Amino acid sequence: MPAAHVYVHVPFCARRCSYCDFSIAVRRTVPWRAFADRIAQELQQRHEPSRAVHTIYLGGGTPSRLGGDGVTAVLDAVRAVCTPHADAEITIEVNPEDVSEVTARAWVAAGVNRVSLGVQSFHDAVLQWMHRVHNAAAVPRALATLRDAGLVDVSVDLIFAVPKALDRDWARDLELALALEPTHVSLYGLTIEGGTPLGRWTARGEVFEAPEESYEAEFLRAHDTFTAAGFEHYEVSNYATPGYRARHNSSYWLGVPYLGLGPSAHGFDGQERRWNVAAYAEWDAQVRAGLDPCGGREVLTPENRLTESVYLGLRTTDGLHIEPSERTLVAPWEQAGWVTVARDGRLRCTAQGWLRLDALAGALTAGRSR
Ligand code: SF4
Repeated sequence: MPAAHVYVHVPFCARRCSYCDFSIAVRRTVPWRAFADRIAQELQQRHEPSRAVHTIYLGGGTPSRLGGDGVTAVLDAVRAVCTPHADAEITIEVNPEDVSEVTARAWVAAGVNRVSLGVQSFHDAVLQWMHRVHNAAAVPRALATLRDAGLVDVSVDLIFAVPKALDRDWARDLELALALEPTHVSLYGLTIEGGTPLGRWTARGEVFEAPEESYEAEFLRAHDTFTAAGFEHYEVSNYATPGYRARHNSSYWLGVPYLGLGPSAHGFDGQERRWNVAAYAEWDAQVRAGLDPCGGREVLTPENRLTESVYLGLRTTDGLHIEPSERTLVAPWEQAGWVTVARDGRLRCTAQGWLRLDALAGALTAGRSR
């Protein structure tokens, strides 16, 4: 069965954010027409069969930098092979500075019905430190414009655990996020990657990572705030109001096949993972030359599958079925309040447990591989 979920990596950004190590291409003028043509060519050169799809996700990078015409052209290119079901979820990642009445209406006309808005913080000083282009005032304006255009399903991205020296008021950021009445919230703990401006500042001793206690306290504060407001904490980093879980992202957590297009995009056919070359220029050149821009492949071994099934099971509220023989292993976790075990034998992490996800998944995997 061909994949029914499609991811397109749009690499263009206005500039590099201080913490970002994604595969991006900083461009003042975005070559949207050429990019859409390459996506169409990539689909053709990889001999992707026609199929009906449940989700299309334009991620990045900054897909909203494509503007109205560019998003339309890329979705048209995808639709040449992938026909969305009538109720398909079509998401684009958007930065607030790219939202205007014209672009928002064009996105809706192109079939977009979900937006993931890169907010990150409502503190101007924090946004500047992150090298974000927008300021806090741009966020409610962007949201109102999206809603006026008919986009109801809007997710908000927030970054927590920024260095203490920034004196960020996390509780205020959470309140302001709630005041926007999003349908969905994604939370990301700041990580310091080598090769980024933040990595260099840290290596020079100019910036200090937030301590682990702040990471935990901010995660738990967000958990309490959003769940008290009626959001379901359905995946370690994601909260949704009823009926608004992200269907595209859920396909990754369920381990179902998905197709990845564009530079650095990953795909999975149920047996094998593949990924495209990461650099935009290299991907562009390979596709123009009539080649499949594959950068690597990996067939999942039984060990990989075991690790993934445990990890993916534990990261959502669906949880993981455990055997009676594993009860002894998980009993201390239950006592510590990190997990619950339902009568049907499903193990589910609590918010405290999600903070220890890697360790819990590692212990279960080790037990199952013996
Ligand atoms: S906008 Fe997103 S992808 Fe682009 S540099 Fe910033 S964090 Fe990275």
